[in-house]
Amino acid sequence: MDLDVLISRIPDVEQHLLRAIELKTVSVVYQSQNALPSEKLVGVEALCRIGSGPIADVSPEEFIPVAEHTGLIAPLERLVLSQVANDLPLLMRHHPNIRVGVNLSIRHITDHDFLPFIHGWLDALPADAVERLDFEITETYFQRISQTVIEGLHTLRKRGVRIVMDDFGSGQSSLSRLHTLPFDVIKLDKQFAQQIDHPMVYAIIKAAITFADEFGIELIAEGVETTEQCLALQAINCRLVQGFLFSHPQPLAHWLSLPIAHAT
Ligand code: C2E
Ligand code: MG
Ligand code: MG
Repeated sequence: MDLDVLISRIPDVEQHLLRAIELKTVSVVYQSQNALPSEKLVGVEALCRIGSGPIADVSPEEFIPVAEHTGLIAPLERLVLSQVANDLPLLMRHHPNIRVGVNLSIRHITDHDFLPFIHGWLDALPADAVERLDFEITETYFQRISQTVIEGLHTLRKRGVRIVMDDFGSGQSSLSRLHTLPFDVIKLDKQFAQQIDHPMVYAIIKAAITFADEFGIELIAEGVETTEQCLALQAINCRLVQGFLFSHPQPLAHWLSLPIAHAT
């Protein structure tokens, strides 16, 4: 969509968001994360949708920036978290070892009342659900967080939540600061898997996998759309993937309709 059209839609998107929050028509869909080479389902990522209406096709890539800009991101993400809290025990019953990723905006995390809120939210979950959670924070913003926020993330990790650096390699990351940031997982931005047939991109992915292995960090390659991309990733020891090849984001009912997986 061109920039002028995007800008002209902002007031409509804001109204749509406001209505979705007020009427609680915010919903959550889940996309799988799969292990290689087994392709076994190991996790899902929760992705926000804002219901039906005149611009029902509005995607998170359009409404999340508007939510961040207008301050609606906190109420929006609280609705997402509330839905995830309801869904998590059901997902765990069907898929005992499953992990669930939730995207959190840095605009929300830096709110002064975020930490008490999120600890309260974790307290209300079943004890064994807390350590199934991955909080995903986009790399670009992650790099700019203050020491206070870093300490806050450490308190969450101490409770067993994992912190994920999302869209790794997409922003203006500073590798020199990487070792000061608290994260357990990196999600390699989708542009890498999608351009893996380029020798230089291939070499970068390989280096990222080696780096992650050396530091005991998990790496998930996002945006895997074709069998060729998947096989190329597998050949360089990539063990976790997410993408349309395995699933599009689907409502909870889809994941509950799969056969019950037994804990191994
Ligand atoms: P993300 O966290 O990187 O999530 C992955 C996005 O890539 C999703 O888009 C997903 O549908 C899309 N995707 C997955 N596999 C493929 C693939 O193989 N090819 C392509 N082309 N795309 C793929 P979606 O659902 O439109 O979300 C876009 C972004 O919006 C997310 O990117 C995330 O940054 C943000 N977002 C979504 N829900 C939330 C939320 O509750 N809070 C916050 N802060 N951000 C959210
Ligand atoms: Mg994400
Ligand atoms: Mg991502």
